[in-house]
Amino acid sequence: METCQNSPWQSALAASFTDVRALLDSLGLSPEDIPELDPEPNRFRLLVPRGFAALMRHGDPNDPLLHQVLPRRAEHDAVDGFVTDPVGDGAANLGDGLLQKYAGRALLMATGACAVHCRYCFRRHYPYSSLAGRESRHEAAIARIRADPSLTEAILSGGDPLMLDDRRLERLVRQLDAIPHLQRLRIHTRLPVVLPERIEERLVRILTSMRMRPVLVIHANHPRELGTETCGALQRLHREDVTLLNQSVLLKGVNDDPEVLQNLSERLFEQNVLPYYIHQLDRVQGAAHFGVSDGDARRILNGLRARIPGYLVPRLVREIPGGDSKTPIDCNGEP
Ligand SMILES: *Cc1c(COP(=O)(O)O)cnc(C)c1O
Ligand code: SF4
Repeated sequence: METCQNSPWQSALAASFTDVRALLDSLGLSPEDIPELDPEPNRFRLLVPRGFAALMRHGDPNDPLLHQVLPRRAEHDAVDGFVTDPVGDGAANLGDGLLQKYAGRALLMATGACAVHCRYCFRRHYPYSSLAGRESRHEAAIARIRADPSLTEAILSGGDPLMLDDRRLERLVRQLDAIPHLQRLRIHTRLPVVLPERIEERLVRILTSMRMRPVLVIHANHPRELGTETCGALQRLHREDVTLLNQSVLLKGVNDDPEVLQNLSERLFEQNVLPYYIHQLDRVQGAAHFGVSDGDARRILNGLRARIPGYLVPRLVREIPGGDSKTPIDCNGEP
């Protein structure tokens, strides 16, 4: 049974900005301040939780957080090489929203929903509506995982798996926990960053009362995304012994700068989060304006390496369809 009672995080989510003008207005900006603004994106609407918007700099049309969520006309441009399924998810889909590309781990798209709509997202064209039917689909995916003893790690992704309510999430976690060959449960989520209200006590209990080791991979691209609420949420998770990692996407106008990445890594480490991957943008249609060339990416990462300890440098990778892992981009290579 669905409960009708909203928990605080669901109320916070429901209060998110969905209107471009209202978001800009809250920042003291007007549509005329933003070149190329698309005030009424249709298919992939604007969605920004108020707490995340509050981390943006008032009156700055080039704010790196704002830049990640503002729809622009350039999204409609067809650019060579930018396609709707750049990472081959269609081919890797075993059915039921279960993807397996790499040995030992399978990725379950637990839900198509997110709390924020990132304009560079590689899943913006994914046919999430085909993931409908929820519970029955999870059952089928779990049966596949149970039948394959080579799998030692289940990854919940999406969309954002923490968009599932506690009841659904707990059910899913329990079922996975009962599969003896699974040793780790990894959750890929942007919610601790964009909707830290989600990290409630009950959620933390779900993650820490299981047999599998919990790993949470958050997604922050810029140091200012780690606000006070987020840091509090990360501290609670760390105290409960949840392994915390971060992945970023290298984004033009957001974090294509060694100094920004240094600040991000240092701020993450302060919160007990280790930088894991920094992804070269997946070439998804509509996101070309965020792209950084491989030559620039190498220069930025080499600049970062010269500034901070090696364990704070995320691995620069790209996803190549058909590869047996994410593909490292060699920073000694020719630019
Ligand atoms: C990215 C990805 C993973 C995780 O890869 P790691 O290198 O283990 O972080 C697993 N499965 C799929 C389908 C992926 O796209
Ligand atoms: S939260 Fe993640 S999956 Fe959702 S839109 Fe942003 S990048 Fe895409």
